Amino acid sequence: MFDDLWAYMYLPLMYKYWYCMPIFLGLVSALYMYIQRRWQSHISQPTDRARVGNSASPGKAPRKDRVQALPLSVNYHFTRQCNYSCGFCFHTAKTSFVLPIEDAKTGIRMLKDAGMQKINFSGGEPFIVQRGKFVGELVRFCKVDLQLPSVTIVSNGSLIDEKWFKNYGEHLDILAISCDSFNPEVNERIGRQQGQKNHLDSLQRVRDLCSTYKVAFKINSVINTHNKDEDMVDYITNLNPVRWKVFQCLLIGGENCGEDALRHAESYVISEEDFQAFLDRHKDVKCLVPESNDKMQNSYLILDEYMRFLDCTKGSKDPSKSILDVGVTEALKFSGFDEQMFLKRGGKYKWSKADMKLDW
Ligand code: SF4
Repeated sequence: MFDDLWAYMYLPLMYKYWYCMPIFLGLVSALYMYIQRRWQSHISQPTDRARVGNSASPGKAPRKDRVQALPLSVNYHFTRQCNYSCGFCFHTAKTSFVLPIEDAKTGIRMLKDAGMQKINFSGGEPFIVQRGKFVGELVRFCKVDLQLPSVTIVSNGSLIDEKWFKNYGEHLDILAISCDSFNPEVNERIGRQQGQKNHLDSLQRVRDLCSTYKVAFKINSVINTHNKDEDMVDYITNLNPVRWKVFQCLLIGGENCGEDALRHAESYVISEEDFQAFLDRHKDVKCLVPESNDKMQNSYLILDEYMRFLDCTKGSKDPSKSILDVGVTEALKFSGFDEQMFLKRGGKYKWSKADMKLDW
């Protein structure tokens, strides 16, 4: 019967519509490829932490559009408290919580076991907790016990004294000090100081201590409406940091914009053109590493004071569960981390002071 159908129906039809065959064959091969891809994604399960993370977690779905990376470089913001009051601050004092140090060490060891090579301690102001002893002990633990290749701190520099360098300096690879202006009035306007204490004095003092105690010195600057026209070439050249990170002021919902935020930084935001003009003015500064909002937003693995990864992909900081409760691999699925952008912005660099071969 089917032979009859083929002979009497399909053959004449094919003969009549022979010119439609390429379209028909194209549709069939597209359908075949689609079915094959669906089948392969169905049978390939994540077998290690480098695969796609898409298993369900109660209450929140992980992002499926990104390959889950190793936590190579992690920023642990263990405190939100700070003695400064920068108007654009995007990690504000919403809690005063700090983990007990043994819990913090447990989490850091878990991160090392999951592939972490660099840890950066940040805040808030890291030296505000136990006058720097807390961060000092974590630095020593990471370098001596865990042998991490890179241990760094970002600080405003105002609370660091020489005793700290004597106790812990040898274990620290890089100390980054935030400074947005070399005009004291601008720093005051921004809130980048405590009382009448001159932030630039702290910057110079810490720079000298870094030299004495062989810690690589770095500067971070946030470019905003108050400093966008400044020329910092001579100041940066004299301070001679190993890196000068230049960020474009970024808005993060719930931190420095929006109803429940502690800061309102809308008036600090600058355009792409203004940011580019600042970079052009400083193009001869060799250590300058620019970071626009696009590069910055999802290219950092941020761990908050509860050791939860913070996902910034939706413009606010959406926390995962704590790595102490669910492990690193599971929490990482909710980090929103964009590894490609991390690599593109030069997130992996010579980050161990032993490799930098610095002329102290
Ligand atoms: S020094 Fe850093 S943590 Fe402190 S208020 Fe300024 S931006 Fe925020």
